[in-house]
Amino acid sequence: MPFQCCVRSCKKPNNTILHSFPKDEELFKVWCSTIGRDDLTEKGVQWIRRNYRVCDIHFDENSKFVSCHNRANLKVGSIPNLQLPGVKNNSSQFLMKMHCYSHQMKHLCLKQPHKALSAQENRY
Ligand SMILES: [Zn+2]
Repeated sequence: MPFQCCVRSCKKPNNTILHSFPKDEELFKVWCSTIGRDDLTEKGVQWIRRNYRVCDIHFDENSKFVSCHNRANLKVGSIPNLQLPGVKNNSSQFLMKMHCYSHQMKHLCLKQPHKALSAQENRY
């Protein structure tokens, strides 16, 4: 069954791959909120994972790695951050949300560690 990208107003190119929602419930909610589809959280992770996808154009290069099948895949903890309705990519609220989340996951999901954080690490 072909999936559609669930980002409203998305102009998905035909050959773009689609990514499943994350299994982790907290991350799933962050995705819903960043893509402007908070309504999806009510349906639950399992249902959404079966029925919805987010296409590749909403993820920047830092969020992806190329798997052995030569397909772009998402790193653990990646969050859609491009071409989203009503989201200014530089808005402090948005960056804060991503930053808090990457802390929470204890995974380095972005290759841009927070300046304060790296300064702290250098002391050790
Ligand atoms: Zn899309």
